[in-house]
Amino acid sequence: MIMEDSVHHPPQSETEVYATARTRPTVIVPLEVGKNMSRSLRHQWITHDVKRTTGENARQANIDAGNAVATALRSTLGPSGRDKMLVGANGTVIVTNDGASILDRMAIDDPAARMIARAANAQHETIGDGVTTTVLLIGELLSQAERLVNDGLHPTTILKGYDRATSYALQRSDEYRIDITSKDDERLRAVAKTAVTGRWGPKATDRFSTLTTAAVRAGDRATRTETSAITTKAFPGGERRDSERIDGILVDMDTSSTTIELFDTDSPSTLTDARIALVDAEIDIEQPDTVDRMTISTPEQLDSLHEYESDSTRKIVQTLTDLGVDVLFCQKSIDDAVRTGLAREGVLAVERTRRDEFDALVRATAATAVQSLTDLDRTAIGIVGSIERRSAGSTDLLVVAGLSGDEHTSLLLRGGTKHVAAETERIIESCLAVVRGALRNGGVLPGGGATETALSTDLSKHATTIGGREQLAIEAFASSLERIPRTLIDNAGRDPREVLPRLRQRHIDTPVIGIDSSTGELRDMLEAGILEPTVVKRHCLTTALETTTTILRIDDILRHTDTDSSDATTSDDQRSQRRTRQRTGGYPWAIGH
Ligand code: ADP
Ligand code: MG
Repeated sequence: MIMEDSVHHPPQSETEVYATARTRPTVIVPLEVGKNMSRSLRHQWITHDVKRTTGENARQANIDAGNAVATALRSTLGPSGRDKMLVGANGTVIVTNDGASILDRMAIDDPAARMIARAANAQHETIGDGVTTTVLLIGELLSQAERLVNDGLHPTTILKGYDRATSYALQRSDEYRIDITSKDDERLRAVAKTAVTGRWGPKATDRFSTLTTAAVRAGDRATRTETSAITTKAFPGGERRDSERIDGILVDMDTSSTTIELFDTDSPSTLTDARIALVDAEIDIEQPDTVDRMTISTPEQLDSLHEYESDSTRKIVQTLTDLGVDVLFCQKSIDDAVRTGLAREGVLAVERTRRDEFDALVRATAATAVQSLTDLDRTAIGIVGSIERRSAGSTDLLVVAGLSGDEHTSLLLRGGTKHVAAETERIIESCLAVVRGALRNGGVLPGGGATETALSTDLSKHATTIGGREQLAIEAFASSLERIPRTLIDNAGRDPREVLPRLRQRHIDTPVIGIDSSTGELRDMLEAGILEPTVVKRHCLTTALETTTTILRIDDILRHTDTDSSDATTSDDQRSQRRTRQRTGGYPWAIGH
């Protein structure tokens, strides 16, 4: 596999070459691939002043990089984890302890560290949680591998052992799993809470876990489709606690040049039993069919053109008023004159409705979307219970509720600034993902390090049945899992050397004992309601294994170091800084080795 430094997607095939030498990338080539490279390809790399790190040095460099990333995130794990303040070059400040958020904004220069960040990001996108846990596991698996290599084990043996250990751990995790249904309100809220704790204070945590659980249940009742019945929207202005769940579809009026005030300001803010029309095309005044170019030479001709135009406008307005339309949602733009004409008749015209909102309207109301105004007839009109005008910060919104098709639920999230609002949305998305994950994907497992400790104990026992050198790798995997409870203890301000042995002891007969993060003491995690979706824990294990495997198999790093003429006067430092800035939106963080 060849991976190019500046490419952000994972490789699509093992043989794909991402870069030409001209782009001067950092390239990582497993030895077996390097050996099979065609001469001309090798030539391309080598002639371009490649700095080469091979064998043990390459592995060591990558292990160090993996450790650096893990160390950077370690203090943020769990509810007692501390925050990082990320200060952008443009002065924006974000305070967060969300692993995915931090990694996203760090300028990571090292290729192996970047692979970890990419894997973490993929996990965040697909599963929504467990990023820090995965990164810590990777760091630990790499450290343990380093130790084993120093003891004379071959990397291949270590990887075999790790692979076997993961399979066994996954199998065992099934034993500890607790099934959950949408009726288990308390457990579902516990899952949401576990995902949010530590991000906000207890009040906000309570509020948001109730909000998200209710949203997922409403969404679940509603649809066959997974995510589309819930939408989140974050707006700056207002406080986080003003966030709310709204049964209905939120339509953002920012994209429309129509301001709500334009329409009859005296009318109440809510329209009941509103008739709506959905048009999935531009609404403009058509030019006369047969003419493709018009020359106007007399005032009369201009008058007649105006007349033609106002005639067309009138016709459009007439069509809509005849059908008794109260609100017209158009996915594209609406001609100015038509909008004004409609406004005069008291028809609310919303142009450039966002695609997701428009689709939600199609799905959740009885109205049918038409491709052209001429197709609009009685059957295409839908009636909704109410349409309410609201504002969130500087944004005007319409809340379409009382839906007749699939239900829809929206989370209207608020935050003091754009960044806070966006961060709130990110955490809520993750919260929604875990609740959904728990409901649809195999239930929950006890959190607070309980599951990791149980699996570690099981693996240590299992290792003794394997024998040989692989046994050492399985034992190493088992002790890597302890990194999670150890870090939780540490972050709670306690001494792992004192608490960890007691945790192991209790696990002999009670596999649900974990760390209570507020005290750093042992506690029954089921009783404490610290639960995580099985799917998250499984994903942490498989992503950690995959990433560690990729990194450990590399034993050759080829790094282009030459400069071209335009860069000749720029120092390496300046160049790397420039790259860094570009990649991170101005955040001056850097991790390397
Ligand atoms: P990640 O990015 O891995 O999700 P978090 O910072 O969210 O990292 O921490 C998750 C860890 O914290 C999990 O092991 C989870 O079980 C644990 N955890 C969450 N809430 C609590 C709690 N109240 N007490 C103890 N551990 C908790
Ligand atoms: Mg988490």
